[in-house]
Amino acid sequence: MATAAAPRVYKNFINGEWVEASSGKAYENRNPANSNEMVGMFVSSSSEDVDAAVDAANEAYKSWRLVPAPKRAEILYRAAELLLLRKEEFSKDMTREMGKVLAETRGDVQETIDMTYYMAGEGRRLFGQTTPSELPNKFAMSVRQSIGVCGMITPWNFPMAIPSWKMMPALVAGNTVVLKPAEDTPLSSYHLVQTLTEAGLPKGVVNLVNGYGPTASAPLSQHKEVPVVSFTGSTAVGRIIAEACAPDFKHVSLEMGGKNIIIVMDDANLDLAVDGAVWGGFGTTGQRCTAASRVAVHKSVYGEFAKRLVERVKKLRVGDGRDPDVDMGPCINEQQLKTVMSYVEIGKTEGAKLLTGGNRLDTGVFAKGWFHEPTIFSDCSAKMRIAQEEIFGPVVSLIPVNDFAEAVEVANGVQYGLSASIYTKDVNQAFAAIRDIYTGIVYVNAPTIGAETHLPFGGTKQTGNGHREAAIAAIDFYTEWKTLYIDYSDKLQRAQIDNN
Ligand code: NAD
Repeated sequence: MATAAAPRVYKNFINGEWVEASSGKAYENRNPANSNEMVGMFVSSSSEDVDAAVDAANEAYKSWRLVPAPKRAEILYRAAELLLLRKEEFSKDMTREMGKVLAETRGDVQETIDMTYYMAGEGRRLFGQTTPSELPNKFAMSVRQSIGVCGMITPWNFPMAIPSWKMMPALVAGNTVVLKPAEDTPLSSYHLVQTLTEAGLPKGVVNLVNGYGPTASAPLSQHKEVPVVSFTGSTAVGRIIAEACAPDFKHVSLEMGGKNIIIVMDDANLDLAVDGAVWGGFGTTGQRCTAASRVAVHKSVYGEFAKRLVERVKKLRVGDGRDPDVDMGPCINEQQLKTVMSYVEIGKTEGAKLLTGGNRLDTGVFAKGWFHEPTIFSDCSAKMRIAQEEIFGPVVSLIPVNDFAEAVEVANGVQYGLSASIYTKDVNQAFAAIRDIYTGIVYVNAPTIGAETHLPFGGTKQTGNGHREAAIAAIDFYTEWKTLYIDYSDKLQRAQIDNN
């Protein structure tokens, strides 16, 4: 009788070797579209494994920081080339562990490639400033210095792109890394770390520790030898991380939740706005930090916009993201699906009108997955919980507004501040929106999603703590300024005193 092959057990990567976790335990990673399908077993780490990874990263830092940045960058260039060759394989694996459709996982891997090339280019820049001194025969400049071991804690919705946003700038700047990926999507981090290693990264420079948040990420954020912590995830966990980092004054970057809005004005191209709302609201099953989960629509076009949006959303095909005919995959796990279902009940109780969707899909081909219908509520007030709280699923709230001023007030009236968008043909209104909406990202005539790697990414208020990922902003986070004064006058010169 044939028996199923035992699933592969993926290990931690510490000091250049794949090793078991000290607990001896491993957990299952299953396909959210079909829980019968095992993606693999991943070891479950604790503070002992984190300690070993941090020790390795600390030791490797001694030599990695002295490798010339253009040489560090050459390894990143090679990694980008390898990622390009393996893009299809990695995308398919990502859809299997995360559920989003193949077109989107290809985008995730491409974003990783873009970030890797971009940061490799920084190897020959990492610019500082030179500036005149106020004193004669004195030279003044600033240079960037690396910091040390960077602890990275990442979410599951961009399983390869988000780790790359953190790792590539940290590495090119001369730091070393301990990564704790999301427990739901560790295979994509395995692929990324494996690729960097094949590209020639020396042992200990990148270390991977798998496992759960409280047991594996918490010791990383608390570790005395980790001066930099970069976290992307929920605002609730971000607060825990910030508190863990505070006693040691660690550099901590927090990229957290969102409740992003699309504003549709009375002069908008409605079909374009509908396209944007479908992609912004239901792309990645609404599981993007930048997802457009609120749409504020001018009253004069509200009815027509809602009608066209519902027509389009009813046609969305839900299913396994590997099927090219599918538009929207499952929720990541049972817990996330339950959260979505509970918000649908909250919306109904609050008196919002359910225009389409509202149900779990669990029969036939959906029976083994965490699927939910794309759902739209209308007639929402801006204060309802479904219009205030991050749902992180395929649920969009339509909010009627009387004018531009009210739309901006609604946009700003949430605790988050990641992304916002306005559809209008009026250039004055577009620029007023750019000025008055207090978010980290604003789009005009495009949905709330679609970040590019060479621009800063992040949000205001409870979305972030003032740092940005991507672009030069990321280099700023992973380096410290060192200011240099070189006096060649051969005498004591006192700033602010001797030149007055
Ligand atoms: P999460 O906060 O549950 O988990 C994120 C990471 O933190 C995971 O690696 C997890 O293991 C770890 N973690 C969980 N509990 C922990 C604890 N007590 N101590 C230490 N670490 C812990 O988030 P998620 O469900 O993986 O991702 C969804 C969230 O991420 C959403 O809120 C979304 O908006 C946010 N997100 C934000 C951005 C951004 O750039 N602003 C990007 C993507 C996702």
